[in-house]
Amino acid sequence: MMGAMDTHLDVIIAGGGMAGMTLALALQSGGLQVAVVERQPYAEQLDIGFDGRASAIAYACFRQWNALGVGPAIAGHACRMDEIMVTDGHLPGAASRRPLPFFLNFKAGEISDRTGDEPLGYMVENRHMRHVLYQAMKDRHINLIVPAGVVDMRDTGGMAEVTLDTGQVLKASLVVSAEGRRSRLRDKAGIGYINWDYDQSAVVTTVQMERPHGNIAYEHFLPSGPFAILPLTENRACIVWSEKHAQAKALVAMGDGLFYDHFISRFGEFLGDVTIVGERFLYPLGLGLAEEMYRGRLALLGDSAHGIHPIAGQGLNLGLKDVAALAEVLIEAARLGEDLGSELVLERYARWRRFDNVSTSVIMDGFVRLFSNGNPLLRTARDVGMGLFNRVPGLRQFVMEDAGAATGDMPKLLRGELV
Ligand SMILES: Cc1cc2nc3c(=O)[nH]c(=O)nc-3n(C[C@H](O)[C@H](O)[C@H](O)COP(=O)(O)OP(=O)(O)OC[C@H]3O[C@@H](n4cnc5c(N)ncnc54)[C@H](O)[C@@H]3O)c2cc1C
Repeated sequence: MMGAMDTHLDVIIAGGGMAGMTLALALQSGGLQVAVVERQPYAEQLDIGFDGRASAIAYACFRQWNALGVGPAIAGHACRMDEIMVTDGHLPGAASRRPLPFFLNFKAGEISDRTGDEPLGYMVENRHMRHVLYQAMKDRHINLIVPAGVVDMRDTGGMAEVTLDTGQVLKASLVVSAEGRRSRLRDKAGIGYINWDYDQSAVVTTVQMERPHGNIAYEHFLPSGPFAILPLTENRACIVWSEKHAQAKALVAMGDGLFYDHFISRFGEFLGDVTIVGERFLYPLGLGLAEEMYRGRLALLGDSAHGIHPIAGQGLNLGLKDVAALAEVLIEAARLGEDLGSELVLERYARWRRFDNVSTSVIMDGFVRLFSNGNPLLRTARDVGMGLFNRVPGLRQFVMEDAGAATGDMPKLLRGELV
């Protein structure tokens, strides 16, 4: 907890979620003075009932955590994802239709000449990531102002001044909004935000299987939304089951026995007996994209800049890629004695991240519309597309590396190096 109001700060991070905390660690590793302002007490955020999700973390994003020294602690809770199986309409469960022959299969071994022994990604429960990142911030004495919300920000001649709901006022060269989708500072700055709802919510729970999952992730595309089985440690799996809002709400509200019957009719018996070991959580799904990545002395990062459907598990990864680019831009600018909140510096960050953020959001939106659909014409088109995709040489490898955050002009942290 920070004491003096007039401590000199380079950067104030509004929002200490997984993206904001990683940014704080990255900036501090480059010698910058940082404060993180977080509205929600960490004791609540680390509670088992707060966030039931697990995230697929791209292998290059994991390299960033290794470079920042938190990788080993997170690795203790991470499950390798060595293979991804994507099917169209085919479910292992008894209530499913006849299996269709169309599927995509990605294997880490296909790109191992470039990645060594790295998997396609790691599945980690969010509560474990939050715990390790929070502990690292505390151990490294990063200024943490919690619980406190940023309510306002203004430019006062060469510095940004931020007001908190506690009445405290802080000044820094730059303010980063890592506030998630509902960013107050983004709206206050007048940055336009495009957003829509998919009429889908994800029901998330954790299960334990009898037979080994073999580090394989399964994603089954169904007309109501994807049904994903994502491998976790201790032979558990995170289930992300998307349905129309009303059905998803009903699934979360129903009794355990009835829920199990619905669940097992989709999951099937291919991994032996399955026990539900986690609570049920509900997440409404939509898309949100900010029209600018910065304005004045405010930069956007993570879900505050782009919130996407979890269909390919890319949301947090985009935020972690933002972290790597912004940290490199700011640390190098500080070494050159540049103003961290200047347009010259922030435009470098925006140029680095704009295309990937917008193109990934558009592609994910297209996937949701194409796959969450029972229209027979669309279905034929996508099945033909899957068949073609499998045959184009090099395309599968490119997609795996791209999803692994290892393509394009990679910031140092994504290569596993400190700035
Ligand atoms: C069902 C589901 C599954 C997903 N699976 C994956 C996956 O497999 N892989 C993946 O990469 N992504 C996945 N995602 C996306 C991922 O969860 C998000 O992209 C990620 O959590 C966003 O992190 P963030 O730190 O940017 O924002 P948030 O997690 O929203 O954090 C924002 C923080 O800011 C704080 N805050 C907000 N406003 C203020 C303020 N004014 N002052 C102070 N504090 C404030 C909040 O309390 C919060 O702690 C999934 C999403 C869903 C819904």
